[in-house]
Amino acid sequence: MIITITLNPAIDVSYQSHHFQLNKVQRVANGSKTAGGKGLNVSRVLKQLGCEPLCTGFLGGHSGSWIKSRLNQEGLDHSFIEINEETRTCLAIIDNQYGTQTELLEEGPFITIAEKDKFLSEFSKMLEKAKLITASGSLPKGIPLDIYSEISEMANASNVPFILDTSGKALEYGIQGRPFLIKPNKEELCQYVGKQELTMDEMIDAAKKICETGVQYVLVSLGKEGALLVGHDTVLLAEIPEIPVINPVGSGDSMLAGMAYALKNQYDFKTCLKWACACGMSNAMEAKTGEIHLHKVQELLTKIDVTVL
Ligand code: ADP
Repeated sequence: MIITITLNPAIDVSYQSHHFQLNKVQRVANGSKTAGGKGLNVSRVLKQLGCEPLCTGFLGGHSGSWIKSRLNQEGLDHSFIEINEETRTCLAIIDNQYGTQTELLEEGPFITIAEKDKFLSEFSKMLEKAKLITASGSLPKGIPLDIYSEISEMANASNVPFILDTSGKALEYGIQGRPFLIKPNKEELCQYVGKQELTMDEMIDAAKKICETGVQYVLVSLGKEGALLVGHDTVLLAEIPEIPVINPVGSGDSMLAGMAYALKNQYDFKTCLKWACACGMSNAMEAKTGEIHLHKVQELLTKIDVTVL
């Protein structure tokens, strides 16, 4: 079983507007409402790849119940810790005429120490059945910055690979727990090393330095430029063909799912990197976030070149 962790899920509400103006009353069609959170997207893609992931994290209030019912409808297994405060709602206003997207992201509920401890105790039970763990996204209020490090150490002690996709301080602290793999995009890697830009060689150097601290692999996603997979004695570059992009939101999550799926199947690292890229690409070719098509993934796999650097 693959466990996906989403500590700060959200109801994502998206409105389409054709002439969005500040300071005006505007009437819009009903918004579309989805169960959001990067780890939930990872689960969706894993399901499309034929896996049965278990989603966990924190959910509370009516929003939390709504997310659970949506996951049930989508056929996704879940085991969330019930919290006292309400799960957040995030709002996006998409203006097709101006080509703008305005987002209001709530910071989310406060998690108490007792709720966090309950999560860690439930997680240690889930670990007994886990083949692989993924954790994605930001941390809710109240959660200590080193939570991903603690989760990683628990996974390492149980010999279960832990894959981490986060940014900023949560990544900085998370790395200290020596995750099996981290997946920064280029911007997140730049932020980690405190630079505005990085050349390919500098990215490889930065990833190697991270590996020296005990992380086994660093997967740097590079959008339409493909991806780099760096380990202690491995540097692989995936070059990808141009594709018709419709919506690249969620491509990083889809990439994580592709990598988790391939690792679970014990494919070699070149093949794992191809699966990761193909899933990210397939998602970018769909309008819906966290959607891939297996036949497209299989076709894309044949078009990705992986070279050893
Ligand atoms: P994130 O969403 O975390 O920023 P990326 O944008 O780097 O991650 O996307 C992850 C992967 O998805 C890329 O490595 C690539 O394989 C694929 N992908 C994303 N955007 C594009 C694009 N515009 N064209 C082709 N592939 C893409």
